[in-house]
Amino acid sequence: MKVFLDPGHGGKDPGALGNGLREKDIALSVTLKVGEILKRHNIEVIYSRTTDVFLELSERTNLANKANADIFVSIHCNAAENINAKGVETFSYPNSTKGTALAKCIQDSIIQSKVYTSDRGIKTANFAVLRQSNMPSALVELAFITNVDDGKILKDRQDELALAVAKGILNYLGIKYIEKTKELDCSPWAVEAMEWGMKNNLTDGTNPKEPISLERFITILYRYGKALE
Ligand SMILES: [Zn+2]
Repeated sequence: MKVFLDPGHGGKDPGALGNGLREKDIALSVTLKVGEILKRHNIEVIYSRTTDVFLELSERTNLANKANADIFVSIHCNAAENINAKGVETFSYPNSTKGTALAKCIQDSIIQSKVYTSDRGIKTANFAVLRQSNMPSALVELAFITNVDDGKILKDRQDELALAVAKGILNYLGIKYIEKTKELDCSPWAVEAMEWGMKNNLTDGTNPKEPISLERFITILYRYGKALE
């Protein structure tokens, strides 16, 4: 699986401004976090940018098309003159069934995560990045940078936002979410094997340094055998 992630704006284009925040910074930070989570699931992640640089919209879609990515996800923040406007909304290209499904997965995941302030739903729009990408695509407007409450979310809850977006993408791809191996207390040389074992449901990764009992050993063998069936 190849996922193309596109943090909006960058370089000379700061995107929307509000509450002392710049859209380009929030978008980049959240997008990189989304990518880290996806990589943990053996997904190849390609970014339009990983630093504060400017790219034309066509450059972004060209990169995705050239890479033959499976999906394209652009991450932005919303803005409005009315500072009361707030909430999350996700766009897909009009009449794209797969794009709509992708947008819905991302939107639903953010709403379920309870990070949002209000659900503006999924929408369609003739945005260049959605129109010019050859693969199912979605553009998420995480929250309104111009709203005080939303601004706080964009500033302080980026990990949760990123997790919600990543889970939505995984859901669309039909990939089961795996927890970060935070309590994984094993030797560095064993990390790769342990993560593989957890991903394949052979072990939950607990007590990595305990001597193995017959019951644990046979259970791992049993699960392995079942997985091969
Ligand atoms: Zn934007």
